[in-house]
Amino acid sequence: MIEKKGLGVSPGIAIGRIEVFRHSDITISHETSDNPQLEKEAFERASRSVIEGLEAINTDNKVEKDIMLVHKSMIKDPEFRSLVYENIEKRKYNASWAVETAAEKFITLLETSGSEYFRERADDLRYIERLLLTALSGMVSSLSVSEECIIVADYLMPSEIFELNTASVMGICLDSGGRTSHVAILAHSLGIPAILGLGDISSYAVDGDMIAMDGKTGEAVLSPDEDVLHLFRMHKSAEMRAEKSLRSTALLPAETTDGVRIKLLGNIEGMEAIPQAISAGAEGIGLFRTEFLALHKDLYTDEEKKASIYREVAKAMGGYGPVIFRTYDLGGDKIADGMKTDEENPVLGWRAVRFCMARKDIFRSQLISILKASAVSDSVMLMFPMISGSEELKEVLSFLNDVKSECREKGIAFNENMKIGTMIEIPSAAITADIIADYVDFMSIGTNDLVQYTIAVDRGNERISHLYRPLHPAVLRLLRNVIEAGNKRGIPVSICGEIAGDADIVPLLIGMGFRTLSMASHSILEVRKRIRGLSLSSCEKLADRLLSLPDATSIEKELKDFTDGKTRY
Ligand code: PEP
Ligand code: MG
Repeated sequence: MIEKKGLGVSPGIAIGRIEVFRHSDITISHETSDNPQLEKEAFERASRSVIEGLEAINTDNKVEKDIMLVHKSMIKDPEFRSLVYENIEKRKYNASWAVETAAEKFITLLETSGSEYFRERADDLRYIERLLLTALSGMVSSLSVSEECIIVADYLMPSEIFELNTASVMGICLDSGGRTSHVAILAHSLGIPAILGLGDISSYAVDGDMIAMDGKTGEAVLSPDEDVLHLFRMHKSAEMRAEKSLRSTALLPAETTDGVRIKLLGNIEGMEAIPQAISAGAEGIGLFRTEFLALHKDLYTDEEKKASIYREVAKAMGGYGPVIFRTYDLGGDKIADGMKTDEENPVLGWRAVRFCMARKDIFRSQLISILKASAVSDSVMLMFPMISGSEELKEVLSFLNDVKSECREKGIAFNENMKIGTMIEIPSAAITADIIADYVDFMSIGTNDLVQYTIAVDRGNERISHLYRPLHPAVLRLLRNVIEAGNKRGIPVSICGEIAGDADIVPLLIGMGFRTLSMASHSILEVRKRIRGLSLSSCEKLADRLLSLPDATSIEKELKDFTDGKTRY
């Protein structure tokens, strides 16, 4: 039995069989081979195994099926195969080198063809190249799992979560990752218990062994004995009872004891999260992280395909309240196929609107899709991520205006009054929120990034996760500055970072003046329950007190005393 403690980032208790995934970089040897026959056989074996892997993907989704067929046909493509053979026979390349060279040649041809359709195929070919090279190097070629299991890995990229058959994943335990990393957010949103920052759990884990995990406390036990299993099972039953009692409040309003109504919205990453948002009583979608669709499927899908997904979301949720589409926040730890990943400081680099303004083809296509969706529901709103100040905002708005003009010329219908907002997640934007507020209809604070940029602590790095303090006085002062700017300029300000879904922090946020909170659907029930036991006057006194304290430790301590009922206001 081995006990480990990490960061509980997505609550829930799971007990099950381990499935281990290890990432190792594929290194391609560029040495010639004097046995072409062996290399050809290796290539054929790898091709067969990739094709079998693709055929094993069990999906009813037509688009996924079509993509799988395209991928299969690429491996079988006679021109691709004959170039691989030529590389092996004439140039004496080993099989991996031969695949790499052949794939790169076709990728370049497709990319330079100038057609959107062929550029899409270049990404497909890149994917196939990776699968073939992985198979040739004898590593795990796919993350798909068919039986119920708990994934243990060194790390997972957000895009890799989509490769998993999430219905079979009972839990996730990773060596690395911070509390508000996107893998954590995604696991929480999908309702999969997850523990990150476990250090070296993947090196102890063995496929098929048992593991018990608690995604709230961060405890994971490999090969648990009967006593430990009994304890985890008891906690699981208690957890299920608590969840049932929370569900009974789903239809009650989120209102304080003195009658202040707080709007609770959902954060989602895809259509599949909508039923959960509705059943938790979400009053709209405060943040749709659209980039996850681009990671999952394809960044270059045409406007109409994207628009139809956005319309579906708007139709499903529009009756409940706003549906806020955030434009692609790609970059950082969200790398879509075909994006360059060679930056030294990706979270300070080519991310979000910076990427979109450099790749206007991608941005334009997404804006048109959102505009098209706005025609079906007044609830559709648009929001830009990572705006650093009014100059950048004005450039982005001007581009949006160009795209709107183009739509008018082409007769594409959209809502001329669609509300446009910006995220406030960079300190420079929070400090100048009064200036920014003049250009937008609403602001939404992304505290996950705001915290990392304000106190210079990488949100995804488990080594410094103890330094990631959302209650740092600098962060609270920025929050206060933004809400005051919004109030002065008469525009609404919400919070859509993870702290909005933290039931212990919510009293402070309400006391500071926030009336709209957007969070993972799984947090809504608990937050609603908490709000129904609070009074505005005590929240305001709490906020005044906490904002007067000098450091995160004393703020956290006084907030805990309030939560535990030791201090009353
Ligand atoms: C945030 O930064 O708080 C936010 C909501 O956006 P994301 O977590 O996707 O960066
Ligand atoms: Mg952010």
